[in-house]
Amino acid sequence: MQFSPLVDDLVSALRCLPGIGPKSAQRLALHILQRNREGGMRLSSSLAKAIEGVGNCRLCRLLTDADICPVCASARRDRSLMCVVEHPADVAAIEQSGSYRGLYFVLMGHLSPLDGIGPDQIGIDLLVQRVREEQMSEVILATNATVEGEATAHYIVDQLRGLPTKVTRIAQGVPLGGELEFIDGGTLLHAFAGRRTLE
Ligand SMILES: [Zn+2]
Repeated sequence: MQFSPLVDDLVSALRCLPGIGPKSAQRLALHILQRNREGGMRLSSSLAKAIEGVGNCRLCRLLTDADICPVCASARRDRSLMCVVEHPADVAAIEQSGSYRGLYFVLMGHLSPLDGIGPDQIGIDLLVQRVREEQMSEVILATNATVEGEATAHYIVDQLRGLPTKVTRIAQGVPLGGELEFIDGGTLLHAFAGRRTLE
């Protein structure tokens, strides 16, 4: 049903969220307007500020408000290790598991030629440059255990060939087709401990 142009606009705007269909969008819009306008104002201001102010770390591409993210800026991380993941949510999952103390590189996706996502879009040049410049001793590939994640890992191995850096892949206690962010901390711990060297 249609209420008014402003309400309809809000409903259709809410549909940009994942998993929100027309009915859920309408329920959320009506909830905000009817019961929680204050919360709605806060949401709209936080959204605007975050979209305006959050960019990608210059070194690892993690989402951050600053030029360099807190992980890259920290003096307490092992700077000889880099873990390559697809998404910022993967960094959050690994940090929560406490299984890793090195640096990260966030691809912000995976290779997907059919969608026009190639090496440039996932920052491969930046990754290789950083591994070379910081003379990292190990790069741990923690892309998802999906077809795209595996293809991306293989591509990165090829790009790092010739550098004096060990390249490893986290163990597949990660279920096939599994996305890192949904894996529990204990499994992640084993996945890191059981990582193997790639040739
Ligand atoms: Zn960073």
